[in-house]
Amino acid sequence: MKQANILVTGFAAAGLASAAGAAPVAYTAAHMVDVIAGRVIDNAVVVADNDDGRGRILAAGPAATTAIPAGARRVDLGAVTLLPGLIDMHVHLTGDPTLSGYRGLEFVPSFATVLGVKHAKLTLDAGFTTVRNVGANSLDDVGLKQAISRGDIPGPRIVPATYAIGATGGHCDSTEFPPDVTVPTPGIANGPEEIRAKVRQLRKWGAEVIKFCGTGGVFSKTDTVGGQQYSQAEMDALVAEAHMLGMKVAVHAHGPEGIVAALKAGADTIEHASLATEEAFALAKAKSAWFSMDIYNDDYILAEGEKNGVFPESLEKERAIGRAQRETFQRAVRAGVRMVYGTDAGVYPHGQNARQFAKMVEWGLTPMQAIQAATVNAGEALGRSKDVGALVVGRYADMVAVAGDPTRDVTVLMAPKAVIKGGELVGQAR
Ligand SMILES: [Zn+2]
Repeated sequence: MKQANILVTGFAAAGLASAAGAAPVAYTAAHMVDVIAGRVIDNAVVVADNDDGRGRILAAGPAATTAIPAGARRVDLGAVTLLPGLIDMHVHLTGDPTLSGYRGLEFVPSFATVLGVKHAKLTLDAGFTTVRNVGANSLDDVGLKQAISRGDIPGPRIVPATYAIGATGGHCDSTEFPPDVTVPTPGIANGPEEIRAKVRQLRKWGAEVIKFCGTGGVFSKTDTVGGQQYSQAEMDALVAEAHMLGMKVAVHAHGPEGIVAALKAGADTIEHASLATEEAFALAKAKSAWFSMDIYNDDYILAEGEKNGVFPESLEKERAIGRAQRETFQRAVRAGVRMVYGTDAGVYPHGQNARQFAKMVEWGLTPMQAIQAATVNAGEALGRSKDVGALVVGRYADMVAVAGDPTRDVTVLMAPKAVIKGGELVGQAR
């Protein structure tokens, strides 16, 4: 969306400062998407128990049959369709696509944190009220989460992974440096025992999900895009440790062998899944795993990558798998693999997260299924169904309002008319 169209109010007062004035609030709208039933309700109301940014839903449904508590403040959003706040399962809030390749080396680490503050606001304004940050340096994602939780800065709810765990020389290592230049690599671990220790350490530092690199990737040097990078024993240990500690596991995996090994180990979400085969589809279904396929960003990377400093070999890799990933997505949808909405925002500009909806529809999902991927499915895949993903009693009053009917035309999701987080109206189009 164009940021100029959004008037953001109340952020300075959000959180602790405004708690004293907190009150129930009833939002009414012409339509509301019930993402669990997969239908649209007309003349709807959602009542939040609080408008302080921490409110949960007291009641939601058709206005005719939903009781609004006496004393509730009423806000009529008008001729819009209300949806649960959107969830992006794969972002890098501190990433900036224009600083690709070696471009980022002229900046100090805290520069990325500052960018994260800007990107968090762009993401919230785009209607994404929850994100899973799957890989950041310097515990940036934990710091952002802390500041957002306190109401210091605007942004989505963040499920942080901290550092992505990976093998020496693999996708999550700093492979762009020559051997005589040593840089810190806090996410690197090799062998089952080191990997278990790394999972424990990241949890201690604030990780709420574990991300690891199961195969090579597009933006790393010295590896192939699909080659497996952790052994079965290493993946088994990582997933077992994370699950024991109550954390889900997201695995970066493009190639078929790595995807299958990660699924066998019990990984919860397969990120990218570009070259997944029928074997992987069957395993994903049997294991109740999710695919999180970033099928929009190829357009951006190929158009802007060279200008942004992306390594020529990375562009070569993207050309090799971009189209293949979309075809895999289509086959996976047909095979009945369950999808969540993950965009890899950060490799393309933040705030454009909703652009992927149209790609998902173009390649096989119905509009309602694409919306479910970014709401109810994502809430379940996060293990946070009690908090986010649907407009039902007890969950956070996180909502986005759009013009028109997103179950017919998902492109309306790219220009939210209002964004509500925890019952608080945090952004509204003029
Ligand atoms: Zn990523």
